[in-house]
Amino acid sequence: MIPISKPSITEKEINYVEDAVTSGWVSSLGPFVEEFETMFAQYCGCKHAITVANGTVGLHLALMSYDIGAGDEVIVPDLTFVATANAVRYTGATPILVDIESETLCIDVNKIESAITKDTKAIMPVHLYGHPANMEAIRFIADKYGLVIIEDAAEALGATIGGKNVGSFGNIGVFSFYGNKIITTGEGGMLVLNDDLLNDRARLLRDHAMSKTKRYWHESVGYNYRMTNIQAALGVAQLERIEEILLKRRQIFEWYSLRLAKNPNITLNRTKKGYINCYWLICIELLNEFSGVRDELIEYLKKADIDSRPYFYPLSSLPMYKSHNCSVSDQVSSRGLNLPTFFDITEEEVDIVANTILTFLSKS
Ligand SMILES: *Cc1c(COP(=O)(O)O)cnc(C)c1O
Repeated sequence: MIPISKPSITEKEINYVEDAVTSGWVSSLGPFVEEFETMFAQYCGCKHAITVANGTVGLHLALMSYDIGAGDEVIVPDLTFVATANAVRYTGATPILVDIESETLCIDVNKIESAITKDTKAIMPVHLYGHPANMEAIRFIADKYGLVIIEDAAEALGATIGGKNVGSFGNIGVFSFYGNKIITTGEGGMLVLNDDLLNDRARLLRDHAMSKTKRYWHESVGYNYRMTNIQAALGVAQLERIEEILLKRRQIFEWYSLRLAKNPNITLNRTKKGYINCYWLICIELLNEFSGVRDELIEYLKKADIDSRPYFYPLSSLPMYKSHNCSVSDQVSSRGLNLPTFFDITEEEVDIVANTILTFLSKS
């Protein structure tokens, strides 16, 4: 079976995790947590980085740090992993769904302003499948209406715009280190930000809102959203390897591109000029007479021992977020799928995947 994703674990990861476990620092105190935060902040070009238990609680923590809650509205793209909208719901606020651009699969910046009301507090762009959202336009709108930007950069570590890392454009950027993400800590996540007060507030809420000067004194309800030192050890090892990991993902895209890009019935990830895609997942969309056979292709690949997955369903189609449908996300979501994209995949394996797809298209 060729899986859709698989973490790359080398001797370095094993050694660091062994160090963490044998040191006795197994919970959220310990040197790897601090090292991971310092390295990560530096990598993203932000003043602060805060480790968290996973990306979802990271988004929740970011929203709570801005006191977003009941009665507030937060703008979210219609096509994303469900966690983006769920985090808004956890606070009591309402996610307002905005359609996406077909080229980048990110929020359509021309449709944001008409979704803004007096209750809007924040915009949460998502860098979907590794393509950066249009942060320049989003910053312009946010400033015009006095809104906060919380970037869901869960899928986009290493993606850049004009040489600047995603996650560092918004007021807070949130990353995920789930096992299938660009780098992994098993479960885990990170907030990046520049504001000192916000950093203090997020750290407080992450740790049960316990007073820094008076132990076991709590001024408000807090959370345990901490990452362990064992997870951080894995994270440090992975982040030390980030350049080779990103380079390999570009290579994988080129391998697929060489074999599939010329086919008029397929599009591959399209990256806008000035943007660097980190290719979290290779995306293909079936066009023309093939736009309705996506699920059959997934089945066909499965029979050939190749794992793939459909694009996310639009949030507006899910029972708990049911609303007016967004035409672009509806269209794109039903014709798109993701192909195997992971560090250890070989050119021969990409060849097998591409040939299987081309055979399917020539037969149907
Ligand atoms: C993975 C992901 C998350 C959630 O991260 P977890 O670490 O799995 O909680 C949030 N948003 C997007 C877009 C993601 O892909």
